[in-house]
Amino acid sequence: MQQIGPIWIIEGPNQSKVPFSRSLYINSKDKVLIDTGADPTELKALNDQHGVDLIINTHYHPDHTLHNHLFPNVEKWINPLEFETIQSIEGIALENGVYQEWGPEGVEVLRNHMPKEWVQNLGGISGTYQYEEEYNFSGVKVNFLHTPGHTKGYVTPYFPKLGIVYAGDFDMTSFGPWYFGSDGDIEKFIKSGKQLVELDANTYITGHQKGVFTKQEFMEAMDKFLAIIDQRDEAIDKYVHKGMNFEELTNIGIFYPKKILNTIIIRTWERSGIRKHLHRLGYHVHESSEILLVNK
Ligand SMILES: [Zn+2]
Repeated sequence: MQQIGPIWIIEGPNQSKVPFSRSLYINSKDKVLIDTGADPTELKALNDQHGVDLIINTHYHPDHTLHNHLFPNVEKWINPLEFETIQSIEGIALENGVYQEWGPEGVEVLRNHMPKEWVQNLGGISGTYQYEEEYNFSGVKVNFLHTPGHTKGYVTPYFPKLGIVYAGDFDMTSFGPWYFGSDGDIEKFIKSGKQLVELDANTYITGHQKGVFTKQEFMEAMDKFLAIIDQRDEAIDKYVHKGMNFEELTNIGIFYPKKILNTIIIRTWERSGIRKHLHRLGYHVHESSEILLVNK
């Protein structure tokens, strides 16, 4: 386990790739765990040896709330915007485009397929922290910066005195930026990404894969990461110019591999993501599935 002063980095299995993520542990007199997607055995050992007083979830996604259920008696907080979202399956369906793409039937499919543990993980969250307010955990100061784009309530924990940022799902993976839920926003993602680079910090810790970046590495990685958005624009624009309609476009596998597009939630995100890019490119999707250029 890597330790940077009072901040411990707890890895998830398989380089913290989805469905896992990296957790941070604040080891001061107050024991605070940020996100619970790390290895369950390590999390249990941590709890047995050192204890956990409080869990902070950066956002509601299952890979970051994955092991909340291992801490049944621990207080759990999420950001104020998403506390609303997690109160019902309908809320989650709305924020992920499930309702928008498939209507009430889609919501029922989600209700029947969502693993019980995920429901339990979100159900155990009892409170919220505030955005942009300094919290002091026995001397370890942290700010929860509102950095929307990945989700609307998404936060980046920033330790100003330590110069550490938990960059989470600004994860710099080759997959590229994720903003495919209806609560995701491309322009906000870009703005938040640029904001992170500007922070007075020397250590950036991502939620998945590589992990620890110096500021220089993070800056360079962010440029490449955000450039994937333009590459996606170009790819989609090319298909539209070939005369493809929306249904055809959503069967190619622009973001996800074609072979997993039959999973409802993946299919939903693929469609929702393509709609966002079409909108960005100035197109409108007609009810007939035809893609029309909007006169600007
Ligand atoms: Zn996420």
